[in-house]
Order: sequence, then C-alpha cells, then structure tokens
Amino acid sequence: MQDKELKSGSEKPAKLRLAIQKSGRLYDDSIRLLKECGIDISNGVNKLKTEASNFPIELYFLRDDDIPQYVEDGVADIGFVGENVVYEKKKKVIVGEKLGFGKCRLCIAIRKGETYTGPTFLDKTRIATSYPVLVEAFLQKNQITAEIHEISGSVEIAPGIGLADSICDLVSSGSTLFMNGLKEVETILESQCVLIQNRNLSEEQIQILNRLIFRIQSVKKAKNNKYILLNAPNNNLEKIISLLPGMKSPTVLPLAQEGWSSVHSVLKENEFWDIIEQLKESGAEGILVIPIEKMIV
Ligand code: ATP
Ligand code: ZN
Repeated sequence: MQDKELKSGSEKPAKLRLAIQKSGRLYDDSIRLLKECGIDISNGVNKLKTEASNFPIELYFLRDDDIPQYVEDGVADIGFVGENVVYEKKKKVIVGEKLGFGKCRLCIAIRKGETYTGPTFLDKTRIATSYPVLVEAFLQKNQITAEIHEISGSVEIAPGIGLADSICDLVSSGSTLFMNGLKEVETILESQCVLIQNRNLSEEQIQILNRLIFRIQSVKKAKNNKYILLNAPNNNLEKIISLLPGMKSPTVLPLAQEGWSSVHSVLKENEFWDIIEQLKESGAEGILVIPIEKMIV
C-alpha cells in the first residue's frame, strides 16, 4: 500500500530498480550485459543493492526465485531472471526482451534402460521436480495423471533412491543426467534469461527502460554479427560484393596496389563460414574478421 502511494506520488525518483540474481549462474552474465551497455556498477558486490554511477539504475541483488514477486509488488521495477522461474511463479509481470544468456531447457528424464513410449509413459508414475506448476501444465496438456513430488534441489538423484520414477529438471549439457543414469525424453520449456517489468511503471521509468532496451538490443545485434575486411581483385569485385549482404551495401575502397580493392562489410554469425569459403573461392585475400562491440541500426 505504502509502495502504491509512493508510486503515484509526484516525488518518485526517475530511476529504475533492477533486480538481478545475487550469486549463481545468472550473476556474471547479468553484470557483463550491464557493463556492455555502458552502465557502470563498479561498487561492491556483497551488498543488497548498489547504484550505477552513469545511468539512472539501482541494482538489487536477490535470489532468482524471489525476483518475479519483487517485480510484481513494485519493490523492484524490472528484473533479469530465467523464463523457467517466471513461468513457474506465474506472477503478474510483463515479460520482455530475451537476454541471450542462461540458456537451458526444462526436461523430463527417465532411467537410461527404459523405453519411452510418449507422454503416456508417465501416466500414474511419480515425477520429482522443483517445477510443479510447469510439470502440472505439461501433464494436463497431455491428459495424464501423475504424482508430482516437489523437491528443491538435487532432483536428479530421486529415481536412484526410489523417491520417484522420473524427474523434470533444468538441463544444459545433459552430463548431470547421464552421470545419474538418466536420459532426457521430453523438453517442456526452452528457457533463457529475460527482462521482466512491473506493470505500473511511470512514463519516466518507461523512458529509462526504453533506453536500456535499446542498449541491450545493440549489444545483442553486435554479438550476432562480425565485421569483415578483405582485399578483392577488381576483375571479380562484383561477384565478391554480391556475396556480402552488409547493413546497406559494402564499403569499397581502392588499394594502393593497382587492380585491387579493399571491401568492408558486416556478416551474420550463422552464415559466416559459408560466405568466407565462397569469398576465398572468388579470389578474396587477406580476410580479416573482427568482433563488433555495439551495433546501432
Ligand atoms: P538462487 O540462490 O538464486 O535461488 P539457484 O540455485 O536457484 O540460485 P542457479 O543454479 O544459479 O539457481 O540457476 C539460476 C538460473 O540459471 C536457472 O533458474 C536457469 O534459468 C538458469 N540455468 C541455465 N543453465 C542451467 C542449468 N544447467 N541448470 C540450472 N539452471 C540453469
Ligand atoms: Zn533459485
């Protein structure tokens, strides 16, 4: 209530309170992203909160599970948190930009020796998980009844100690499952860290948020692209230019050596190797590929 009054009051400071994970898998990447966005948070880490020196953001360090609740309540205005947590907690927050880190999948895994016959395999069995809401939704979608055992950690040992027949847990490489004699049979959610936002931000806060989102998008675009420089023989220049999509069209500059040009362009990470091979076949030489720090389009 007090918070509501504060929010609608005219003295509300124009800043955003951003909740990130205090320590754990999302911490380093959250801090790195903010730094790449040019936000200076060089203050101490072992605190509950800290302020950026050059951007109207205050950072709150919290357990990831608590972030959706704090953002719903308006104690924090925005948060960086895994989609798995957001959808499990079912809080009333706006889910926005995907942040490109903390990637994992929420999977059902069964004992290695068993043969999975589809979701009905799970009917009338016991599933151990820390994600009862998401598992229940999966079961309902597939019209299955199973017993959900909610446990908060080390879910992967549950079948081994006879607590459950299968598990539903987060997986990135799958090595933890393998070491526990389990195999993945269903993915119920592909997850990554996302930006969530309180539903009642002020105009001023939305403006700050839009500035932050613009920076995040520029950092993400830069990561998906490479800057390329190469020397091209003029007699094959047109062919080489046609291979380079670029942001608009490539920059072409004459080289001091007669008959050659320097070509500069931008390539997408996923089409990168294919294009490099074709460029070499077309006579391109001295190819340099450089990471891009920010990309403003
Ligand atoms: P906290 O103390 O903040 O509650 P935690 O132990 O719940 O931490 P972490 O293990 O640090 O959480 O994971 C945080 C988030 O990282 C997960 O909710 C998920 O979004 C993401 N993540 C990415 N890969 C994995 C993985 N292989 N296993 C677990 N989480 C992963
Ligand atoms: Zn947690």
